[in-house]
Amino acid sequence: MRLSHFAKVAAVAAAAVLTATACGGQSPSLGSSGAAPSVAQGASFEAGTTMEKLNKAQALRLGTKFDQPLFGLKGLDGKPAGFDVEIAKIIAAKLGIPADKISYTEAPSAVREEVIEQDRVDMVVATYTINDKRKERITFAGPYYVAGQDLMVKSDNTTITGPESLKAANAKVCSVSGSTPSEKIKQYIDPANLTLFDVYSKCADALRTGQVDVVTTDNVILTGLIENSSGAFKLVNKKFTEEPYGIGVKKGDVKFCEFVNKTLKEAEADGSYKAAWDSTLAKVSPDVPPLPAAGTCS
Ligand code: GLU
Repeated sequence: MRLSHFAKVAAVAAAAVLTATACGGQSPSLGSSGAAPSVAQGASFEAGTTMEKLNKAQALRLGTKFDQPLFGLKGLDGKPAGFDVEIAKIIAAKLGIPADKISYTEAPSAVREEVIEQDRVDMVVATYTINDKRKERITFAGPYYVAGQDLMVKSDNTTITGPESLKAANAKVCSVSGSTPSEKIKQYIDPANLTLFDVYSKCADALRTGQVDVVTTDNVILTGLIENSSGAFKLVNKKFTEEPYGIGVKKGDVKFCEFVNKTLKEAEADGSYKAAWDSTLAKVSPDVPPLPAAGTCS
């Protein structure tokens, strides 16, 4: 089921690349944000909770990616746009905070726990896989989506067919420090062949210039980079991990985590989750996936 879903993602991405190329540039809608979800007027929250604090402040500090098309890509207006940003807007709206009161901090993979611990953001929505190691430092709400690790190569590459083919091809692989894909790829390659940057756009540049042969991270992140590559890159389309995306909040803030989980459920029921999908990821994968079952907040 998942495989065919991602086969579809790849096919639609290829079609989108054609469209983008025909227009002589990247898809104009890529950086746009969706319709703002309606803000909960007069929302009131239990005293002393993060929800009350944020509602009173009428401000939400979000940690997200700035260079990931479809999830968090900084546009010409200086604001990031994408599915992660739309998820954050849904949560802000339920807190009674309008979208224009969200401030954005770039949160590359390696510093996501840190920006939460240092109270530089109220939450991180940034293609952030829920795992036990990270749970030692922060609390995760969600998941709100499940991705999977894959490989991206130049469109004319025929030797890389999946992670098992990397050793024989002596492939140079690029990923990002502090990401789960950078760890999981190690079992498939000679460590000397792994290059790590702080953000994925640098890996895409390295692939373009031939410094590396492969970029590895979550399939949907790669699909966004492919959509922006004017036909230069393709997805190998052999998903080999599960990456459930969570919303990172301060360690132990169970009430805020439960509020976020309830908000996600409501967003699925009232159509705002679908609207977030439709304005972002639907470009490469039209079918809205079901919201995954929530984990426990701890
Ligand atoms: N989902 C993976 C992670 O959280 C890869 C994507 C990313 O680096 O943001 O590490």
